[in-house]
Amino acid sequence: MFSLMANCCNWLKRWQEPVRKVTLIMVGLDNAGKTATVRGIQGESPEDVAPTVGFSKIDLKQGRFEVTIFDLGGGKRIRNIWRNYYAESYGVIFVVDSSDIERMEETKQAMIEVLNSPKISGKPMLVLANKQDREGALSEADVIESLSLEKLVNEHKCLCQIEPCSAVMGCGKKIDKSIKNGLYWLLHIIAKDFDALNERIQRDTTEQKAYEEQKKQERAERVRRLREEREREEGRGVPDEADFGPGNCENPFQPIATVISENEKQIEKEKKRQRLETERATVVLKSPTGQEQMDVEHLSRSSSQQTNDYRLDTCKSTQQLQNEEESEQQASECLDSDNSKKKKKTKLKRGHRVEPVNSEDTVPQNPTPPPPLPPDFCGKPLPPLTIRQRPNGDIHDVIA
Ligand code: GDP
Repeated sequence: MFSLMANCCNWLKRWQEPVRKVTLIMVGLDNAGKTATVRGIQGESPEDVAPTVGFSKIDLKQGRFEVTIFDLGGGKRIRNIWRNYYAESYGVIFVVDSSDIERMEETKQAMIEVLNSPKISGKPMLVLANKQDREGALSEADVIESLSLEKLVNEHKCLCQIEPCSAVMGCGKKIDKSIKNGLYWLLHIIAKDFDALNERIQRDTTEQKAYEEQKKQERAERVRRLREEREREEGRGVPDEADFGPGNCENPFQPIATVISENEKQIEKEKKRQRLETERATVVLKSPTGQEQMDVEHLSRSSSQQTNDYRLDTCKSTQQLQNEEESEQQASECLDSDNSKKKKKTKLKRGHRVEPVNSEDTVPQNPTPPPPLPPDFCGKPLPPLTIRQRPNGDIHDVIA
């Protein structure tokens, strides 16, 4: 009767307890069986687990506890991330692969590292001597001895319990009872001293956050200084944000459509310029004789003949200045020059004889008049002899 009443009182007391949020860390070497253990606790199959990269987090409800367990990767290179979780941790679950005797020393060193941290010492630690199902696995006593566990926990004033277990034996409600018992023990110890532990954790996490914030600022400052130094070395100042405003600097990355239209405009300008030059040359060299006129026109056309477009443009411009008959003739000449390169060359040779723009300036005044025409001449009058006999080295250069 008395014990029944005591049980009722205990139940009532526990029911009145507030829900407590507790964070635990699960550490140990890689391949020790941490993820398999966590999955078993969660009720998931512990078989075929992938190695933990970084960490994984699970949340579970255990009585009046809301428990968060951080399963931290155990690879040599990432073990130093463990310390980032010490401050907020109420207790430690250390998983040992009892079948891996060769790595016992490494396991011991890893455990010393954890317990050496002032943020961990004094907190409870559950040691899971895992993989007991494997042949040759060390017994509980052998693990204690291999790790010098008693000495270690006494040194760091950590309450400790060791549970020989197998994470792959079952999951959920069928999980290895040793794991279940170990978890109960840990939560029980935490509950016993919850207020003091909670106060310490609040203090430690505030400190840790301030420390992390400071480190972050220091890092940012270092990066800023490095960037400034590099920019100084490169001989340019740090640009103002205003420098990047619209119109302040040209964006080197223009849309391709803009670039194309700019190029087209330039080509058009160039064409116009050449057309004007051609027209000017044609007007200046307008000779009273038809043959000479044709020679000059052809030369001016030829000098700008670099592409088919240019040839057509030249033909068009001369059409504006000539009468219909001449235009037809020119058009046929243009076509001819397109069709036969050989023919074009011949005409170009003829063009060598005439300086298109400066002919009047450079041609020396011939005091002797041209000889009289033969009486039987009935074709087109020949151009003045002085022009025809002029050396044309310059023109040749221009055309060539
Ligand atoms: P972690 O790196 O510590 O997270 O280790 P894992 O949980 O990934 O387990 C590593 C390997 O050991 C996996 O192949 C698991 O299936 C296996 N393993 C984990 N626990 C046990 C166990 O108790 N017994 C046996 N035989 N194998 C286990």
